[in-house]
Amino acid sequence: MDATSDRKLDVEPVLAQARADIRALTPYAHATWDPALDRLHANELPWRALTDRSNAGLNRYPEPQPLVLLAALAKLYRVPVARILACRGSDEAIDLLVRAFCAAGQDAVLITPPTFGMYAVAARIQGAAVIEAPLEPQDEFRLDSHALLEKVTRSTRIIFLCSPNNPTGTLIPEPVIRQIAAATCPHALVVVDEAYGEFSAAASAARLIDELPNLVVLRTLSKAHGLAGVRLGSLIAHSGIVALLRRIIPPYALAQPTVEAALAALTDPQQTVTAQRITTLLHERENLRRTLPTLPCVLKVWPSEANFLLVAFHDSQSAFATLKSAGLMVRDVRQQPGLANALRITIGSPEQNARLLRALAG
Ligand SMILES: *Cc1c(COP(=O)(O)O)cnc(C)c1O
Repeated sequence: MDATSDRKLDVEPVLAQARADIRALTPYAHATWDPALDRLHANELPWRALTDRSNAGLNRYPEPQPLVLLAALAKLYRVPVARILACRGSDEAIDLLVRAFCAAGQDAVLITPPTFGMYAVAARIQGAAVIEAPLEPQDEFRLDSHALLEKVTRSTRIIFLCSPNNPTGTLIPEPVIRQIAAATCPHALVVVDEAYGEFSAAASAARLIDELPNLVVLRTLSKAHGLAGVRLGSLIAHSGIVALLRRIIPPYALAQPTVEAALAALTDPQQTVTAQRITTLLHERENLRRTLPTLPCVLKVWPSEANFLLVAFHDSQSAFATLKSAGLMVRDVRQQPGLANALRITIGSPEQNARLLRALAG
């Protein structure tokens, strides 16, 4: 797969769904990037701050989409460089997609509750409607693609699919993603959020972009790579969609310390350690998944392909309080549909997980 494959795939009908004013927008012309020349064109100071330990110098505006970083991300996710947009976390990618494709008071996004809260928040900030196609609580939160497609209307511009899903941990099978994207192409984007992809055995949906130009995949360094504080996410899409979104991303979205921290972490000694840590985490997840159901306070543990478990308790209020007194914060997800007595528990270190089991065993 290379960038030339994008030319064979007709993205124009997909881009035609974007807001007309965004398509016509003249982007902000940021200062030209040419490291070979001295910079007297961006009103920066020629001296570094005394505390500046960066490679490039924090007195300089950063390169907008640094080529070395895009290359490292493209290698990590095994996609062509032209298909990557580096963002301030996948949260920014979600925001850019909604802003580019949803006209306020007119268009809609479709979500599958219970799911990640940012899709609906980004839509509401933009003034887009939120359509819900709930997962099946009676069927391990399976996605019914037939029911979902029935909810799609002419104003549905984006369908957000989270796989593995937060907070249920469930995976959406690739044939289901393909079916939904094929049925809605070119009228809606199908955005597959793979924030937890590294904890699952399933292949990334990014390879489907070769056949489906309306497919967008989100990845992040925040979870498996241990870099939530760095704020770096990747949007993977047909290069035409990436080019459109580059017009509206703020001109210097990626701070220089973010770029340097991400590049350092994507080198080999760290990548080997990251792979080992994922293995440790999966082992811990399996141990908790087997042990939690043996505790009298636990009603149900759902299978998970992510680094957390969704756990239902006989008395979730008391379980929450017990864990808090053991010094452990878990996520209260009880207000979400179908999760009346459930808590979302992140897999911690072996010590933290042992403490969690001891506390719940009472
Ligand atoms: C944590 C999470 C994100 C946020 O990713 P950032 O890259 O940190 O912004 C995105 N999607 C889902 C489903 C998440 O759980």
